[in-house]
Amino acid sequence: MSAPQGKIMLVGIGPGHVDHMTQRARAAIAEADVVVGYVTYVKLVADLLEGKEVIRKGMTEELDRAVHALERAREGKKVALISSGDAGVYGMAGPTYEVLFQAGWTPESGVEVEVVPGASAINACASLVGAPLTHDFCSISLSDLLTPWPAIARRLDAVAAADFVVALYNPKSGRRTQQIVQAQKLFLRHRRADTPVVVVKSAYRRRQNIEFTTLDKMSECDIGMLSTVLIGNSHTFVRDGLMITPRGYDNKYALHGDGSTREGEKRGRSLSTGLAGWTENLRLDHAEGESIAELALRHQLPADYIEMVLSAPVEDVALDAVEVEE
Ligand code: SAH
Repeated sequence: MSAPQGKIMLVGIGPGHVDHMTQRARAAIAEADVVVGYVTYVKLVADLLEGKEVIRKGMTEELDRAVHALERAREGKKVALISSGDAGVYGMAGPTYEVLFQAGWTPESGVEVEVVPGASAINACASLVGAPLTHDFCSISLSDLLTPWPAIARRLDAVAAADFVVALYNPKSGRRTQQIVQAQKLFLRHRRADTPVVVVKSAYRRRQNIEFTTLDKMSECDIGMLSTVLIGNSHTFVRDGLMITPRGYDNKYALHGDGSTREGEKRGRSLSTGLAGWTENLRLDHAEGESIAELALRHQLPADYIEMVLSAPVEDVALDAVEVEE
């Protein structure tokens, strides 16, 4: 008989309330022989722990936890490593795979690894304040413990300029108090002072607190280790205590009207600013004498990209295809 097959499960348990844990997350913990995690998270699944080995760890022992999980899994045990939110979002999944590879593990080596997805803080916090993520968004961690500050600052600058809605994870701690001030300074170089911001603390936990503010006042808010800061883009608005980022349909259709289209837009065709229409207009503008450098400046795009678009063969772009999105 072959040796018993151990397993490591990286379980995301969502923001911190059992109602927001997935069925698979609970089942994974239920089927585990060993459960490893921070005290706070282990408490949340207390009802599932009877008869199991439970290892409650502190904040700084991430690699230890991964090493320990591997040892147990090699003995044939099923080990659940609990992360808040999603285990792959600033969580244990990365360090665990790194430890596994260092120890010579491969997916075929007998120890199975499963990542169980969970609702990350960005999802949980967004759900409590309306619909702030309905257009392109990204997350940035302000923790400079493992990432050099210039790298974080460059990303803040880039996404502020690119008008993403942004979630700031790990915005502030007892020792890290100035990162959020610096983030604010970098954002104010690109975004209006009255850009909506919301600070969500302990989403779906006992001390949940939600504070609406604006970019110029953001750093004065009560922000801590359990807060996520959501910064709107240039279209985001707050109404009746809700933070909303429009999806963009109102460029083309009147929101509550008779379904009529805006002047210059044809129903059932891509926007004149969509790829096909834009390419067509770019060619016309260039033919009428606008230089590549001028076009690059006006569209805020690299000149070599404009050149590439202009020099590509004219394709028969299906202008009539209407994309139906959810
Ligand atoms: N894996 C987690 C993130 C861990 S990093 C996830 O996917 O959510 C820790 C950071 O996550 C905190 O500093 C905070 O910014 C955010 N966070 C985690 N849980 C939160 C909650 N319940 N409410 C608000 N922010 C939370």
